[in-house]
Amino acid sequence: MKITIKKAETLKNHPEDSGLGFGTFFTDHMFNMDYDPEKGWHNPRIEPYGPIEMDPSTMVLHYGQAIFEGLKAYKTESGKINLFRPQDNLKRLNNSGHMLCMPALDEEFVLEALLTLLDIEKDWVPGTAGTSLYIRPTIIATDPYIGLRSSNTYRFFIILSPVGAYYPEGFDPVKIWVTTEYVRAVRGGVGEAKTAGNYAASLFATELAQKDGYTQVMWLDGVELKYVEEVGSMNIFFLIGDELITPELNRSILSGITRDSVIKLTKSWDINVVERKISIDEIYDAHGNGKLKEVFGSGTAAVISPVGNIKFKGKEITIGDGGVGPLAAKLFSDLMDIQYGKADDPFNWIIPLSPMK
Ligand SMILES: *Cc1c(COP(=O)(O)O)cnc(C)c1O
Repeated sequence: MKITIKKAETLKNHPEDSGLGFGTFFTDHMFNMDYDPEKGWHNPRIEPYGPIEMDPSTMVLHYGQAIFEGLKAYKTESGKINLFRPQDNLKRLNNSGHMLCMPALDEEFVLEALLTLLDIEKDWVPGTAGTSLYIRPTIIATDPYIGLRSSNTYRFFIILSPVGAYYPEGFDPVKIWVTTEYVRAVRGGVGEAKTAGNYAASLFATELAQKDGYTQVMWLDGVELKYVEEVGSMNIFFLIGDELITPELNRSILSGITRDSVIKLTKSWDINVVERKISIDEIYDAHGNGKLKEVFGSGTAAVISPVGNIKFKGKEITIGDGGVGPLAAKLFSDLMDIQYGKADDPFNWIIPLSPMK
């Protein structure tokens, strides 16, 4: 398939790197492609960034048949642009699509489309330490119809947003709040898919946590309300004794690419990494007998997010001295060094943007 390119007539002013924040600025162009059962995926095109006009009955607005991905492009010191494991994001997008009854994309073609879009928008990749260009591929159901079934037509698009450093004032631990009243996903549900409704479902408990002075919710499993699943929209790790434990993928946990990178890196450092069920009681017990050394989240946005405090059933514990542990700090800097091209890439995670013909 040939990608049609229509350039914007006027280009936007670029914001200052210091004022980027997250997710409020968008670049000049976007990628679009449509699906219908006769033509399959067709009309791939790069066009000026702009609104999508849709009928009020458009299915995605009513039944939430929407999936997305999140990855970043990083600028190296020499001005080159790196993508981090983009094939894994596209594979996961197709997995999410499968669970939401959406047609699969050709992953190789979409990677080529993304690289073409990035080549046009490369001046939008900010260069200040810790900043990046966030990439949001999305698929939405587009039939104008309000009966409940899966849509026959879809729109796939990619938008790009320059984002600031996640920790502009230093690498800072978060306080998390455990709930046994709300769950994010259940057995047999769509927790493993990056689908819109999962995030809508997480808002209420997150507001309660924030009202109580905590940043994020630690989600327990939706069946027994016992085993830890995730924190906010990050995966979670516990260093207990010299074992690094992360909840095993059970189909209600999102299979994070940062999670997988943490597992592979720490294994290569001969750390004993275990994927298994871990209950909130085990974590409190480990804290009680002095074995809980570190807790941290992992995800594309923050890379590593150290946890300083946990509150469960009214009882708050402090992890270590409440500061950043050495393993979290090393993972944070080593992963960033790979992403920003400052260190070797032993796992071949980086796809560099090479200039297009
Ligand atoms: C995206 C996401 C993650 C982290 O995945 P990464 O690939 O590491 O960015 C973890 N949990 C949830 C619920 C997510 O949506």
